[in-house]
Amino acid sequence: MHRTFDVPRFLFLDRDGVINVRPINNYVKAIGEFVFENKALEAIGILSKQFEKIFVITNQQGVGKGMMTEQKLDEVHAFMKQKVAEFGGKLEDVFFCPHLHTKHCLCRKPNIGLALKARKQYPELQFSKTIMVGDTLNDMLFGKKLKMKTVLINTDLTLARKHSDVVDNMFDSLYDFALFIQNNNIISSKALFK
Ligand SMILES: [Zn+2]
Repeated sequence: MHRTFDVPRFLFLDRDGVINVRPINNYVKAIGEFVFENKALEAIGILSKQFEKIFVITNQQGVGKGMMTEQKLDEVHAFMKQKVAEFGGKLEDVFFCPHLHTKHCLCRKPNIGLALKARKQYPELQFSKTIMVGDTLNDMLFGKKLKMKTVLINTDLTLARKHSDVVDNMFDSLYDFALFIQNNNIISSKALFK
């Protein structure tokens, strides 16, 4: 039986390693430490024209560790949204989990709490019409639990090969993904997803 493919309308973006450079064994604790990935701003500008709404879904246990406050995190996200807007893009909202992974909360990816929170706030959100873009296995697992299409941002093939069951597509960068969406027309992009 054929499964109908829904044209994606919504985009979930992981933050570190997708939008900004992931600090090694550290966290972005203030605006000065937030460095956009190469051409990520242009990418979000392109993607904002193709998707109805873009959300950022991010684990930030640096808060739980006491390394930064939620207020500082909010400042970082306001800065991120402002820069995106300057490049013609729009990030609708940012949902983050501040908890330590040892707390086993329901909102830390791969758990789906943040997605449920987003849908509560934006009832038009449909997970079956959403693409999850991230750079870790947890992002892919999170997306698949919600029956989303998943896109891995990674230059290393290892993860995608090992977990091909949860990775629908892979790109070197968010910009490469944005170009793909732009060039292929989102409606015909189903051919490139499993
Ligand atoms: Zn949490």
